[in-house]
Amino acid sequence: MECFSPPGTIQGMHIDTITPADLAWQAQALCAQTGADFFFPEPGSSVREAKRICGMCEMRPACLEYALSNDERFGVWGGLSEKERLHLRRTTH
Ligand code: SF4
Repeated sequence: MECFSPPGTIQGMHIDTITPADLAWQAQALCAQTGADFFFPEPGSSVREAKRICGMCEMRPACLEYALSNDERFGVWGGLSEKERLHLRRTTH
């Protein structure tokens, strides 16, 4: 994907909101290589590209669990949008 940063370069995205203990899976997160724009789109914008990247990310289960555990309200995490995570929380709690 042309927007990816060079391997080993972690920028933006969810890094800012994650505590050091969670960085083990974050280091392998695809979104760390793409930048935050896809994952925090403007209100009403498509999240399709973020979901497509999440679909290729091996860290997706850990990411989703982190987002649900930490009540992350904004952006795409683990392949789910804000609304989808809210729905998931409501149906599982
Ligand atoms: S599942 Fe998506 S948001 Fe989560 S780490 Fe992977 S690419 Fe990033």
